[in-house]
Amino acid sequence: MPEEPILPIDDPRLKEPSAPVEAFDDDLRALADRMFGIMDRAVGAGLAAIQIGVPLRLIVIDVDDDAGVRRRLALANPEIVYASRETRVGEEGCLSMPDYGIPVERSTRVRVRYSDLFGRERTIDGDGNLAVCLQHEVDHTNGIIFTDRVSTLRRGRAQSRFAKVRRRVA
Ligand SMILES: [Zn+2]
Repeated sequence: MPEEPILPIDDPRLKEPSAPVEAFDDDLRALADRMFGIMDRAVGAGLAAIQIGVPLRLIVIDVDDDAGVRRRLALANPEIVYASRETRVGEEGCLSMPDYGIPVERSTRVRVRYSDLFGRERTIDGDGNLAVCLQHEVDHTNGIIFTDRVSTLRRGRAQSRFAKVRRRVA
C-alpha cells in the first residue's frame, strides 16, 4: 500500500491555524484534486489541507446528509456562520488518527460560508453527518483537533492508545 502523507494527530502543525486561500488558481485546484485522492484512498469523509502539511484554509468532504444526498466538494476559507444550539454526541474519527473513534459533542445543524475553487462565495447548510464533518474539518483550519473537544481523561486515553499504535507500526 502506498504511503500517504497524512500527518499523525500528535504533529504540532495540526495545532496551528491555517492561512486564508487568496489565489483561486490551477495550483489550488490541483491541491484539491490531490486531497480528494488521498481522502478516497484512506476511505475518509473529509480532509483538511493542513493534514497533508499544507497550511491553507482548504477542506474537502465526501459525505451524505440526513436526506441521503451525497455532498462531495472542496471548500476554501470555510467559516461556520450558524451552529444550532441543539447538539448531539456521536462517534467521530479522523484520518490523522486511523481506526480510532471517540464520542464528540457537535451542533446538529450548521451553515458554512466558503468560496469554491474559483473564488465564488457559497453557503452550505448541513445536518447529520454532513454537519459533523463540516465542524470537524473547519476545526482543522483553526488548529483544533477532535481530541481538543473531549474531556481531559478521554483525551489522555486516546493519546496513549494512539502512541502505542504508532510504536507498533513504526
Ligand atoms: Zn480530522
